[in-house]
Amino acid sequence: MPWTPIRKSPDTWRVPPHLRDYAAACAGFSWEAVRREVPALPGGRGLNIAHAAVDHHAGGPRRDHVAIRWISREGVAHPITFGDLAARTNRFANVLRGLGIGPGDRVFSFAGRIPELYVAALGTLKHTSVFCPLFSAFGPEPVRQRLSRGNARVLVTTGNLYRSRIEALRPDLPDLRFILLTDATDDIDATVLSLPRLMDRASPDFTIPPTDPATMALLHFTSGTTGQPKGAVHVHEAALTHFATGRDVLDLHPDDIFWCSADPGWVTGTSYGIIAPLLHGVTLVVDEAEFDADRWYRLLDEQKVTVWYTAPTAIRRLMRLPGNPRDTHDLSALRLVLSVGEPLNPEAVVWGQRTLGHPIHDNWWQTETGGIMIANFPACEIRPGSMGRPLPGITAAIVRHGPDGLETVTTPDTEGELALRPDFPSLFRGYLHDDARYAKCFADGWYLSGDLARCDADGYFWFVGRADDIIKTSGHMVGPFEVESALMEHPAVAEAAVIGVPDPMIGEKVKAFVALKAGHPATDSLRLELLGFARTRLGSAVAPKEIAFTPSLPKTRSGKIMRRLLKARELGLPEGDTSTLED
Ligand code: ATP
Ligand code: MG
Repeated sequence: MPWTPIRKSPDTWRVPPHLRDYAAACAGFSWEAVRREVPALPGGRGLNIAHAAVDHHAGGPRRDHVAIRWISREGVAHPITFGDLAARTNRFANVLRGLGIGPGDRVFSFAGRIPELYVAALGTLKHTSVFCPLFSAFGPEPVRQRLSRGNARVLVTTGNLYRSRIEALRPDLPDLRFILLTDATDDIDATVLSLPRLMDRASPDFTIPPTDPATMALLHFTSGTTGQPKGAVHVHEAALTHFATGRDVLDLHPDDIFWCSADPGWVTGTSYGIIAPLLHGVTLVVDEAEFDADRWYRLLDEQKVTVWYTAPTAIRRLMRLPGNPRDTHDLSALRLVLSVGEPLNPEAVVWGQRTLGHPIHDNWWQTETGGIMIANFPACEIRPGSMGRPLPGITAAIVRHGPDGLETVTTPDTEGELALRPDFPSLFRGYLHDDARYAKCFADGWYLSGDLARCDADGYFWFVGRADDIIKTSGHMVGPFEVESALMEHPAVAEAAVIGVPDPMIGEKVKAFVALKAGHPATDSLRLELLGFARTRLGSAVAPKEIAFTPSLPKTRSGKIMRRLLKARELGLPEGDTSTLED
């Protein structure tokens, strides 16, 4: 089903976008120019993310500008200015120094979205230790695995989480020297300490040591959608990508109020939920609470959010609701809505236009790339269902494995693996303890993403599926996204996930799992209707042969559909690593 492209007319621009001419921006781009824009440490002492994101602004006219507007679970807003943030992160860096923690040592956080998490992240970077955030809903085993594989030295957490999930693990974690409790007034013993007490005693002045741009800054575990989560190593100069994408994709301007709904436990919540907005000196909204449609619309309204970065899973949940939020909320401050993490169905892009007054700008990247790589830019035409075009400075291509190595596919609309030239600053520098796997990601001068896509004649990339999820049926390669998007067009369908089930006749049979919107009972006649609906849209070779109704789909905690789990369950096979599975 062809979707009409969407383009905002320049007459409707409230703030003219930074990137107005894509071709010119690509032609004029150089990483060296970006390097000159991201403030380096004074005296030629290198590049440190926290200097550019915090101290640079605290030492200038934006000192009293709100850096983080933290909304507590109870809904109360607490502003933290750049000046406050600089002092608090200095104190945290001094706490680490006082405890004898060294550069390169791993500092983990395991907490909800509380101010201490943000202070710990940026304070750790100032101290040139390595920050690794863990999502607070993880149970003890996923936490133990990550702390142990990541060689954690320090853990910042809350008293509750310590008692319920960490205390019992301590004998298994001999390298973990200190646990800092964000809400304890007193130390528990010589290694489990009160963070507020340490912070009170620490000096608010700290000089960031020289930081080579290639110094390890962050350790991020992948979402575990396709298997055991991998630990991706990132360095300080990733800030150049964060800055460039904050300008060209998020289109951040000085007066923006930016909200990224991702948790820092996932790379989006750090690269864009901490670093990119602060590099641009804009106000970042952080909401402590989890998804709630009414709360979210209220937050957009009351905080006057101008740029909102969210995920397909949240958008699909909002799409289930009847009515238009603009009848009850003032969303007029909103200028730009973006999404990442999973393919965004064209239906959702158009829903954004109709419901929020803005189409949703899909963009693609991975934990490994550290920042946005392919995007729908605010001033460019959106083709619903497409991830957009490569960032200026990024070379992306579709490649195929041929007899003589990798071949670059030049025929438009041909499927193959999405590959990037590995010449951008935020690309990961290793998988923790897995050099062999890291090496396998590179071939013939390309970084191989493991995702399949196609590129149209105008350079727009279209997601086909993860290489692991592709279905081979009757000699066709079917990407689940195409089938899921077609099902999503039916008014009864809230969500769909498609897998291949082995079949002796046709190789694999396309099977869809469908969650229905409220008010649509799961009947046989609806099943038949959906099978027919999909056949009309997709043709019989690609359409599902079987549909199962399910109240919900298995997802990672970052909201990604885990097709491998549906498949394992269907085939009665072991479920593999489920550490990131949502409750
Ligand atoms: P793991 O590597 O552990 O299996 P993961 O790949 O889900 O987990 P992330 O790095 O968080 O971990 O996710 C990146 C992946 O998410 C991409 O490789 C792609 O498959 C998917 N993705 C992200 N954004 C998009 C998008 N806009 N369209 C389609 N897919 C996307
Ligand atoms: Mg991955």
